[in-house]
Amino acid sequence: MSKTISIIGSGFSSLAASCYLAKQGYEVTVFEKNSTVGGRARQLKKDGFTFDIGPTWYWMPDVFERFFSDFGKIPADYYQLDKLNPAYSVYFGKDDYVTIEDTIEKICETFETEERGSSKKLKKFINSAQTNYDIAIKDLVYNPGESPLELVTTKTIKKLDQFVSNIKRDVRKDFKNIRLAQILEFPVLFLGAKPSKTPSFYNFMNYADFGIGTFHPKKGMYQVILAMQSLAKELGVKINTNAPVDKIIVEERIAKGIISNGKTYFSDIVLSGADYHHSETLVDKQYRQYSEKYWTKKTFAPSSLLFYVGFDKKLKNVNHHTLFFDVDFDTHAEAIYDEPNWPEEPLFYASFPSITDSYSAPKNKEAGIFLIPLAPGLEDTEDLRELYFKKIIDRFEELTSQDVKNNIIFKESFCVNDFIKDYNSYKGNAYGMANTLLQTAFLRPKLRSRKVKNLFFTGQLTVPGPGVPPSLISGKLVAELINKYQKN
Ligand SMILES: Cc1cc2nc3c(=O)[nH]c(=O)nc-3n(C[C@H](O)[C@H](O)[C@H](O)COP(=O)(O)OP(=O)(O)OC[C@H]3O[C@@H](n4cnc5c(N)ncnc54)[C@H](O)[C@@H]3O)c2cc1C
Repeated sequence: MSKTISIIGSGFSSLAASCYLAKQGYEVTVFEKNSTVGGRARQLKKDGFTFDIGPTWYWMPDVFERFFSDFGKIPADYYQLDKLNPAYSVYFGKDDYVTIEDTIEKICETFETEERGSSKKLKKFINSAQTNYDIAIKDLVYNPGESPLELVTTKTIKKLDQFVSNIKRDVRKDFKNIRLAQILEFPVLFLGAKPSKTPSFYNFMNYADFGIGTFHPKKGMYQVILAMQSLAKELGVKINTNAPVDKIIVEERIAKGIISNGKTYFSDIVLSGADYHHSETLVDKQYRQYSEKYWTKKTFAPSSLLFYVGFDKKLKNVNHHTLFFDVDFDTHAEAIYDEPNWPEEPLFYASFPSITDSYSAPKNKEAGIFLIPLAPGLEDTEDLRELYFKKIIDRFEELTSQDVKNNIIFKESFCVNDFIKDYNSYKGNAYGMANTLLQTAFLRPKLRSRKVKNLFFTGQLTVPGPGVPPSLISGKLVAELINKYQKN
């Protein structure tokens, strides 16, 4: 008889794990607290508009291809992927922005216009980033973080200096133009820490950005979730929504199942893809591996204040992805990482998917997503949300030279309290635990419980880290680990 597995959560990592485990012959049941699958990547539909609630940047398409190919599929079996051109633009002042196009040659031309001689340095930088991408994303990140030895290869030994230096230092050494430096420092923000705290080795994110490009699944990122849900069902996974897990049953240090909606579900293995901190609260204290003190000492990736806005007209002077870096980056970063507080003048990101994808908004209307990164755990009130919406929408009007306030049909917001309520997120973090040097690979919370047999974890707080591609990889890693420990 096949062994049974209960999986908590239905985010990217849980869905990925469910597919691998079902393929390996386990009988898999997913328990998701919310009414729809997808976790942080859920979808909001309103008045003919469709918004991705969480991730909007589809980077590292090779990771998605690798995932689907493990099941004899390709992404195109489920969704259409378009490469965006331009990839994005970055505002530095009124009517003053840099546009990043879809090939390194075009990006080099843009760099050269900003700073003479910079394209040569850029090519060298991206070549180094590509080497690291090949080492990291094609190989290293597919290790389960069980031992430091996983990181020791002939290739990484030659790169030791890149674990000591950081992205900011490297970029500023070569690029004196502050705008170009900020553009090159932007990709590592996805890893959740300041560029000055992110090892140089992580410049593989720059290759993902400039070398591979930015993609968009037609109808939005949620199509990837739907694809994975379909695949999971094809493989026989049972998915229960509106099924919050209240307890992981442990007897004599062995996981025996879960309790959801008052009902007990016994299984041979329990895997949680919910936030790690929350997952540990589902077992009795003596079975928790990490103390509250452990979590408070960790560098968490930011939370966010988000707005999903329906506009009754098409907007101008913006792209599908537009970043607003017109205020001081370091001051905002200090408010996230050093002295957690609402930033006086926030940087923000805006996405207008309806510019390239008519599915996102009715004809002649625009769907807008606005995101301000914030420190996790901040006070979150309606007044603060309103105050910050006003701050960014005023700036948005000024910077892009257009009136939009009177064209808002509706706006919905999402912030710290919602991350906690909807996902049981630790302090309302949006992107999990940051990838700093001391929070990398074997130094992250473990995929396998050291205190409870047959209890496993996956997701953006464990290995390899935050982001959609790492979450897919996390699901694969934990499935392999479960198989390994079942055989032993
Ligand atoms: C606003 C935002 C923007 C982002 N932008 C990008 C981007 O552009 N590109 C990118 O690559 N990444 C991005 N990310 C990061 C990416 O979305 C995440 O890394 C990824 O979705 C995390 O997946 P996960 O499976 O680890 O966790 P989650 O998606 O959080 O899944 C965990 C699931 O567990 C469920 N759960 C929690 N507690 C329980 C319980 N007790 N019982 C049952 N179920 C429970 C939750 O409801 C949730 O469905 C973004 C994230 C956010 C929030």
